Amino acid sequence: MTSNEISTPADSPTQSASADGVATTTSLPPFGELAVMLTGTLVLPGDPGWPAASSAWNLAVPQRPAAVVVAESAADVVTAVRFALRHHIRVSAQPGGHGATTALDDTILIRTRGLADIWIDADNAIARVGAGVKWVELQSALDGTGLTGPMGSSGDVSVTGFFLGGGLSMFGRTTGVGAHAVRAAEVVDGLGRHRWIDDSSDPELMWALRGGGGDFAIVTAVELSLTAAPEISGGRLVFPATDAPTVWRAYAEITGTAPDELTLFASMLHFPPIPELPEEIRGQSLCAVDAVYLGSVDALDALLVPIRAAGIVVRDTVRPLAPGEVGTVCEEPDDPSPAYLGTTTLGRFDDDVIDTILARAATPACGVLQVQIRHLGGALLTPSENAVCRRITAAYSVMAMTMVPVPEAMPAAHASVAAILADVEEFYGGPLSVSMLGDNDPLAAAFSPEVIARLRVAKNAADPDGVFRSSRPVI
Ligand SMILES: Cc1cc2nc3c(=O)[nH]c(=O)nc-3n(C[C@H](O)[C@H](O)[C@H](O)COP(=O)(O)OP(=O)(O)OC[C@H]3O[C@@H](n4cnc5c(N)ncnc54)[C@H](O)[C@@H]3O)c2cc1C
Repeated sequence: MTSNEISTPADSPTQSASADGVATTTSLPPFGELAVMLTGTLVLPGDPGWPAASSAWNLAVPQRPAAVVVAESAADVVTAVRFALRHHIRVSAQPGGHGATTALDDTILIRTRGLADIWIDADNAIARVGAGVKWVELQSALDGTGLTGPMGSSGDVSVTGFFLGGGLSMFGRTTGVGAHAVRAAEVVDGLGRHRWIDDSSDPELMWALRGGGGDFAIVTAVELSLTAAPEISGGRLVFPATDAPTVWRAYAEITGTAPDELTLFASMLHFPPIPELPEEIRGQSLCAVDAVYLGSVDALDALLVPIRAAGIVVRDTVRPLAPGEVGTVCEEPDDPSPAYLGTTTLGRFDDDVIDTILARAATPACGVLQVQIRHLGGALLTPSENAVCRRITAAYSVMAMTMVPVPEAMPAAHASVAAILADVEEFYGGPLSVSMLGDNDPLAAAFSPEVIARLRVAKNAADPDGVFRSSRPVI
């Protein structure tokens, strides 16, 4: 046992698998043996709980793992990884599946929600969370401390999954790429060892975990730095869709001079006329601006004057926010949803770009539910040698998302999203973090060839038998 290895139970580390790595199995491993070693639950195809255990938040991604381990402890993760090594089957982790892909098929899929510990050292602005902790849970625990974590737009995604994907934070213009905040991690590595690692004990694995995805280890906990946030404010301003040209121009003007503490998104929203939606938005086309500000609501109101003046405000939720409320601003659905999305970036957001996007996206005929522009810049431009996603140089990102209520709707969803992204191709601004890639984007959309080559070396070092499989495999 190495000095940073954590003492764990039951069965011993395994022998290496075959020289060419972990093969996909042709016959099923003896899952009954695994079931009796777990304190959590093993769920197999055909079991009553299978549909819920095997499906992701994104219901439009049909997932077909070989088995699901609903882990209750880090010891369960160690047991599952050692079992996978012994029986030459791949293993992956999925906290919720906001970033689901079909890459997890045929793996033992570890559900990490049971790893739910939250530990906060407010004096030193540090938190440590289990791999299943969602941002809303950590942020709510920070209420009243004057601190925040670098969360993204959804409180429903896990802290760990967000960091592994690099993490584009609502506070990124102040704090930089989310993964910069990771200080240390508790992992089960490719030899089945349970280890606590940091930059001095395993710098290359730490680098890969800060934005390279889940191909290198199963993370059981992360330690992160928190940011001072004595006051946070924010909310959504909603306008009729017909105001989009003036509202988006006001958005362009403000984001051209905004302080780093202010993050603004602009969206076109086309809600379908379905009974599941509240009456006030059912069948409506709207334009929205979402704001999150590290400061008082009075200061935010002053910054938002040109936007409020740019159209008829039909709803206004701007208010002081507790850290636990940040994930409510963009009104993203927490319940599992069948979604298809694509993303790209922009080098600028001016009249030319606005007219190009709105020419298609201003009416429901564009076929998507939402086209969202995110203002980047600020500290996102600051490089860090310690993270895969060193910095994000694009000025804005674009996300086009639509719902896919039945599988037959997928080709139309692809076509609608692709058309919006193709319209803005000439304005491309540079790569995004891997967490923000669209469903069909290759790894090269996030990383340079040099970074991909280094990730492959890190993968071979941390996981010589290739037992781990992430949603974005690097090999
Ligand atoms: C509506 C919407 C809004 C979003 N907004 C943002 C945003 O603002 N910023 C942003 O950065 N991203 C955003 N995302 C993208 C992204 O989906 C999530 O940040 C990220 O995937 C975490 O979500 P999750 O916890 O559900 O992880 P999952 O999708 O469940 O996991 C993602 C992958 O991470 C790896 N992984 C997760 N946990 C572990 C672990 N413990 N050990 C090893 N590997 C692991 C696995 O490969 C897994 O497949 C958004 C996605 C949607 C659908």
